[in-house]
Amino acid sequence: MAPPTVLIIGCGVSGPVLSLLLKKKGYKPVIYEKVRVLGEAGASLMLNPNGMKVLNLLTSPNKLFGDVKALPLANLWHGTGSGETLVHNSLPSNYAARYGQSSMGIKRTTLNISLKEMALDAGIEVHEGFELVDIEEGEASVTAHFGNGQSVTGSFLVGCDGIKAASRRILLQNSGTKEGPPIFTGLTQTAGISMTPSALLEKPATMSNWYGNAVHLIAYPVSTTHISWAVTLSQTEERPEAWKLATRVELEAKKQDLEARLKGFEPALLEMVRTAERIISFGLFDRAELSGDEWFSSRCVLIGDAAHPTSPHLGQGANQALEDCYHLSRLLPQLNGDSDGNLAALSPIFEEFARLRQPRTSALVKGARKKGEERVVTGGPELCRARDAQLVVALGDAEEIQRGNDQLYREPF
Ligand SMILES: Cc1cc2nc3c(=O)[nH]c(=O)nc-3n(C[C@H](O)[C@H](O)[C@H](O)COP(=O)(O)OP(=O)(O)OC[C@H]3O[C@@H](n4cnc5c(N)ncnc54)[C@H](O)[C@@H]3O)c2cc1C
Repeated sequence: MAPPTVLIIGCGVSGPVLSLLLKKKGYKPVIYEKVRVLGEAGASLMLNPNGMKVLNLLTSPNKLFGDVKALPLANLWHGTGSGETLVHNSLPSNYAARYGQSSMGIKRTTLNISLKEMALDAGIEVHEGFELVDIEEGEASVTAHFGNGQSVTGSFLVGCDGIKAASRRILLQNSGTKEGPPIFTGLTQTAGISMTPSALLEKPATMSNWYGNAVHLIAYPVSTTHISWAVTLSQTEERPEAWKLATRVELEAKKQDLEARLKGFEPALLEMVRTAERIISFGLFDRAELSGDEWFSSRCVLIGDAAHPTSPHLGQGANQALEDCYHLSRLLPQLNGDSDGNLAALSPIFEEFARLRQPRTSALVKGARKKGEERVVTGGPELCRARDAQLVVALGDAEEIQRGNDQLYREPF
């Protein structure tokens, strides 16, 4: 018997990973991606032990990082712009021993391309230039319609299409709910990747957070030689959700603007900004939570940012998307080639998935928004000093931080 076809919408983080897990379970996943040719995307992200455990079921960091040498995170540092330490700990150096995997920063382009290539190598079809525009559900099948005029039918559909998911919009519309665009959090980021300045190499394998007046800067290594950084600023006016790559002229203007915003910050940070080859700017968005029963219909289910889009301040969006992949594939029946695994009634499986995943991801989306608001304080030096004092209390209790890490990184198995 031919394996059931699963329509996977989106080839970002969750699309290829879920496809690889489902292929191992006897399904025939096929990926449909809106972008014509996947290429340069975003700056970077931090893969944490919970997400790394899922990736490790499919590949090794060596393969994932391509020709770049991955650098496991060893330290967390929080301080003032001028470099005064507020809190420092070395908890990440124990992640591998405690959770089985380390945290590692990776360029988003490297991750996306590696995952797509892994899917292709496993014989999974990846169709680019296919933008989902509509879904029709039958009793035992589902048809996806694409902007290029093509339609495909499969057993079920998984929406892995991110924060602006068409799958989410269609599912909600079909149940009578109209949702607006993603919600601007009031914060923007300008991000880049630079050669690690020598002064920062003195704090190797460290994720660092510098807190200033109306500005926050985060930086972490994405290899032994390069560092990824992002400056977060408060912005009352909504910015379009643009991941615009700066032109040469814009690049210079942006660097000058950032240098002004980072006045008084450590010289190494100004060097980091000055030497970046590429800089992107974007607004930070999330969405109000959906209830678990809005995550699925009879033949469709949402995962990753399509289900629970988040601002990035907890570094958990992709890691939670990876947890989703693990749990959804675990809950779906193993197929042996001679049976269809009784896929007639998928709703109970989707319901169990949503019941398990919605509370955890919803709490993290809210936590990420709160963390962003705490980081960027706009009220002047006195409020900033109060924020710094709170940070020392909140982040200085290593046992409490360890408990929080355990809750995050002991999952999904
Ligand atoms: C600045 C920033 C920093 C971040 N840092 C971290 C971090 O450090 N750690 C972390 O865990 N997370 C981080 N995140 C969050 C993380 O990027 C997302 O949570 C993660 O990428 C979600 O994965 P996904 O597969 O759900 O969606 P995506 O990775 O966004 O993939 C969605 C895919 O679907 C495609 N698509 C969209 N619409 C359609 C359509 N209609 N039809 C077909 N295809 C479509 C898109 O082109 C894309 O390829 C960060 C996010 C931002 C914005």
